[in-house]
Amino acid sequence: MSKREPRVVIIGAGVAGIATAVTLQKAGFSDVTILEKGSDVGGVWHWNRYPGLTCDVPSQLYQFSFAPKPDWSHVFASGAEIQRYLHGVVDKFRLDVRLNAEVTAAEFTGSGWHVTTAAGGELDADFVIAATGVLHHPFIPDIPGLDTFEGEVVHTARWRDDITTAGRRIAVLGSGSTGVQVVSALQRDAAHLTHYVRTPQWVMWAPMGLPQPALAGAILKRVPLANRALYEALLQGSGILADIVTRPSWRRRVVQEYARLSLRAQVPDGVARRRLTPDYQPLCKRQVLSGSYYRAIRARNAELVGERIEQITPRGIRTADGQEREVDLIVLATGFQTHNYMRPMNLRGRDGLSIDDAWAKGPRAYRMTAIPGFPNFFTVLGPNSPTGSISLQYSAELTARYIVAWLKRFRDHEFDTVEVTEDATARFNDDVAAALGPTVWNTGCNSWYLTDEGNIDLWPFDRRTMTKLLAKPELTDFYLK
Ligand code: NAP
Repeated sequence: MSKREPRVVIIGAGVAGIATAVTLQKAGFSDVTILEKGSDVGGVWHWNRYPGLTCDVPSQLYQFSFAPKPDWSHVFASGAEIQRYLHGVVDKFRLDVRLNAEVTAAEFTGSGWHVTTAAGGELDADFVIAATGVLHHPFIPDIPGLDTFEGEVVHTARWRDDITTAGRRIAVLGSGSTGVQVVSALQRDAAHLTHYVRTPQWVMWAPMGLPQPALAGAILKRVPLANRALYEALLQGSGILADIVTRPSWRRRVVQEYARLSLRAQVPDGVARRRLTPDYQPLCKRQVLSGSYYRAIRARNAELVGERIEQITPRGIRTADGQEREVDLIVLATGFQTHNYMRPMNLRGRDGLSIDDAWAKGPRAYRMTAIPGFPNFFTVLGPNSPTGSISLQYSAELTARYIVAWLKRFRDHEFDTVEVTEDATARFNDDVAAALGPTVWNTGCNSWYLTDEGNIDLWPFDRRTMTKLLAKPELTDFYLK
């Protein structure tokens, strides 16, 4: 029997979608279409353009293994430079990306998938791969009076180029990685900046503005072997981080002490320091890195407000102590509705099962990628996908190679549909729950890692385990028809 070419739809043209499309292409699959809801590729790097946007993962690691870029301008690249890189990869591999094509529905037909976009486009596919990410639905807090504010309000993930910040009175809400970056960037030119901090974060000092020496880039470009060796060394090195966050040890304590030292050394004033000191362990929330935040917040034109916000008024913000501060611009660095993954899409699997029903108790998948009830459907950087300890690109490429193994079997007529069993999924999730116990994320803080049900939606194992679990499909964990 001749081989058949699977028709594949990938949802999302961010890091995960691009990694998947190139991996499939390299494995010889040609009928691959990426549907992207945005007006450009890049995912978070397209949507996030706020001042100060920098990636706090070293650039030499924040890249695909199949598209090395030795010549980053900085050790920690800016959002704009990463976006140019992603563009370059999409162009180089001539990926078939349809922009402004938001998938509103994907329904399993019994043998494949019928996909519908917001603009009314319809596609039939043998496989659907959701590479939709976690951090893409901005979270707008429900603060009384927000709609009555007469100045400007912007969420950091929807920054507009026409927003003026210099000389204005700015309020920033939120103290995660985004809030810290945007405060550092806006404080200098603002007339006044107020940082509303509901929960202080540990902010580790790091040289975020450090340029990468041009000579180093030139050498790495001329000697690809050296470049590869550096990438491998960084991957190995990041294993230390996985060890630190997943198991209590002296190494964890050293890193946590460094976080405390970062605060002590940069904020000598005891009163200010107390207000900036979190009441939970460093590393429990997604760790924030900055070389400039503490300087910015201690500047004369800046103020840290820890009082609860009671009301947004037409002219400013009133806190629980009754004080109202007038502002011109409110910047919401309030994060995302995480754990939505592909929702609110109308995703329906076998027998009409909706993803909302399948995930009524929170998002869950087998080894980050397969969901019971959803045949011929995979996620890349799906539930339990690692954040903060293992390279996203590594995980996405690894998962994509795992999916390739299934596509090859489909091409060879070994099955028409493949669906993970409930048993295998439950076993995997039990292992995850047990392994999450000693992680630092489970030491008593509230973070976006937690689902509504209180589960930690992260990868609690090391990279070697991930590589092993996704090395090849275990046929007994699946129904093949
Ligand atoms: P985040 O970490 O979820 O932080 C949201 C912030 O908003 C928190 O400080 C939260 O306070 C605050 N907040 C939420 N609702 C509020 C309310 N009603 N009133 C007052 N404050 C409120 O979001 P993020 O900073 O955008 O970061 C999300 C993730 O994006 C990061 O953890 C990271 O993974 C990624 N990121 C990465 C980089 C990078 O450099 N690689 C840069 C930016 C973002 P509570 O803590 O009290 O909930």
